[in-house]
Amino acid sequence: MSLKTLTPDEQSIIQHLAAGVLARDLPAALGLPKRTTQDLTLGLHKLLPAARNHASLVAICYTTALVAPPPLLDPSDIFLPAEERELLVLIAMGMNGRDIAKHLGRAASTVGEQITSLLGDLQVKTWAQAVHIGWQFQIVTAAVIRTWLEHAKDVNAATAVLPAASAGPLLYVRTREGEVPDTPRALCAVGGPFSAEARGLSYWDQTADDRDENGVLWARVSEVLSRSGRPVGRPLQGVHPARQRDTMRNQRCRVGYCTARLGPTRGGSGGAYLYLVTAKEQGAGGVYRTVEPPVCIEHALLCADSEPRLRDGYTALLVTSSAITGVLGRRYTPVDDGVTVAASRDNMAFHSYTDHSGLRWVLASQLVRDLTSYEVVDLRLLIREAFNPSAEESASCS
Ligand SMILES: [Zn+2]
Repeated sequence: MSLKTLTPDEQSIIQHLAAGVLARDLPAALGLPKRTTQDLTLGLHKLLPAARNHASLVAICYTTALVAPPPLLDPSDIFLPAEERELLVLIAMGMNGRDIAKHLGRAASTVGEQITSLLGDLQVKTWAQAVHIGWQFQIVTAAVIRTWLEHAKDVNAATAVLPAASAGPLLYVRTREGEVPDTPRALCAVGGPFSAEARGLSYWDQTADDRDENGVLWARVSEVLSRSGRPVGRPLQGVHPARQRDTMRNQRCRVGYCTARLGPTRGGSGGAYLYLVTAKEQGAGGVYRTVEPPVCIEHALLCADSEPRLRDGYTALLVTSSAITGVLGRRYTPVDDGVTVAASRDNMAFHSYTDHSGLRWVLASQLVRDLTSYEVVDLRLLIREAFNPSAEESASCS
């Protein structure tokens, strides 16, 4: 799209709309006569005919840099359910409530309620301001808006590029754009850490941080973190080894690294942790073996409703006893010169911490926990009780 530049007044209109100023308050905010403001706004819509409302006007101006886009913020700092993210992008594409209801096959009243929640969650007054915030947190992106503009006549083609709601919540443990694994050439075979003569896998430039307390070597992946230590960037497939290990070891929430321990009223004096597991993870004696860290009560429903791995059903467990039992990792073997190593052809597999000789050749990627003592719970009931404890009390009194 080749476009003229905007006048300072036109840019100012976009900036005020993005800041949540209502259309009727624009003349006062700009210090311009009402008629002039109307003409300028009309002119903007004529210049950008795809913009069917103020929200899409803001999105297009940021995408085309007609107005300098605002600075980006850490996407993991925003908690927004998947369905509200989806709504926000559709709003940025100029859809109104009726269009969205039709597009998503939802009742108009449901969409209306979800839009109200969206504005409440973002603490904004207008749709244009919601798009502005969505841009900052990289929910509304130039790539998505550009694709929409290219397919503006065909909403399905345009929305096909949307990060599907099935992409699930933004998990703390997921790898993010900009984070890269170390090259396999950094690995070698050396006299191991377990005994003077035992050989094993190592890094050429190994440091103390490369091994866990059991002496197991961990895969290196760089981290891009915000000033507050939060992962930044678009989530990618895959799990960040260091973040998964930390989250699983300390049983923190998989979504936000929140405290996931439920108080002593649940699960005795030691408290309990909420895990969402699938039948695949259940083994002998009913023990669940998992690499998926727990979830806090605030994030539980979000995970249950939108994590792809839970789509075919899940069981909610209040776990009172569990143990770290090993790692998920890949085996390496020495080749030719006895120093160079190559990954074995086996898939990632579980390696028990008791298998000392086997672990010498494993590069660990995820920490494994066995959930041994637990209570199967109704997740929705648990959440209702957690947020409304008096209801539970009065119910048990009556
Ligand atoms: Zn959480």
